[in-house]
Amino acid sequence: MPKCLVAGGAGFVGSNLVDELISQSHEVLVIDNLATGKKENLNPQAKFYEADLRNLADIAPLFQGVDFVFHQAALARVQPSIENPVKYHDNNVNVTLNVLVAARDSKVKKVIYASSSSIYGDQAEMPLTEEMIAAPISPYALQKYIGEEYCRLFSYVYKLPTVCLRYFNVYGSRMATEGAYASVVSIFGQQRQKGQPMTIAGDSTHFRTYTYVKDIVRANILAAQSQITDGRAINIGQSTEYTVNEIAKIFGGPTTNIPERIEPARNLCSNILAKKLLGWEPSMDLPEWLENYYKKDMGLL
Ligand code: NAD
Repeated sequence: MPKCLVAGGAGFVGSNLVDELISQSHEVLVIDNLATGKKENLNPQAKFYEADLRNLADIAPLFQGVDFVFHQAALARVQPSIENPVKYHDNNVNVTLNVLVAARDSKVKKVIYASSSSIYGDQAEMPLTEEMIAAPISPYALQKYIGEEYCRLFSYVYKLPTVCLRYFNVYGSRMATEGAYASVVSIFGQQRQKGQPMTIAGDSTHFRTYTYVKDIVRANILAAQSQITDGRAINIGQSTEYTVNEIAKIFGGPTTNIPERIEPARNLCSNILAKKLLGWEPSMDLPEWLENYYKKDMGLL
């Protein structure tokens, strides 16, 4: 059975991926410094190394004998990256370079890199397709894009097989609930639980594509098994979009407006390439998950 390393395996996406890899009987290692990840997310059957990926000397030996590296580690939010571009660069760009160097030196079979739909910026045309020119509008988005470029470079120069998956707003079990890291879905869920109005940034006409975490996990495993080795980027997202207002309506309840943020007006995903190259299709749409799972779990029905 292949040996898999999940960098960032104590986080939201990473821990869901670890659970699935373990359920498929793979040997799994996790490297995480618990910056935003949590010990309670860790699967007890995975071998956990509490280490900082910014320190190459510490992490390089852990890559020995690994077949697949799933690089999910990052400081993964747009707004805080605007406040702290240097810290975010260190954790997003330098960490990705270290992961690629360690993977190259250990001759791993493939690195699967978690990229982001944010790399597209505010495009005039929808849906977003992979051939569009990246136009990041935040430090985080630029850093995720530099990570993609490093993957392509390592595939070309060092013949390290890599593939980049551009996730579109991920939701599901263990999504962030706190502070600047919380997603709109969990913010609304918690506000409804406390009987508070749901906070909507700006005029609420921004559309977003939302993607179920188990679909993201499946895409990672398909990407590992695929023939793709050249660092190309593939959109992994639903082909539907909702305004924040529409999501608030599904929750039901009062809303209040907070100041607008710098963010793209839309990020509708084209997932045609994912279907073609990976045989991947999403299995869940956000309203279905909110109605059938989340609202029940949160006691909001
Ligand atoms: P998360 O914060 O839950 O997980 C990231 C993990 O990386 C955390 O466990 C954190 O502790 C770890 N980490 C960060 N810096 C580290 C370091 N220097 N050394 C070791 N570990 C470190 O975030 P997530 O939502 O699970 O995101 C996973 C990946 O997917 C990220 O690369 C993110 O950029 C990407 N992504 C996420 C979304 C989303 O909506 N959640 C959308 C697009 C892309």
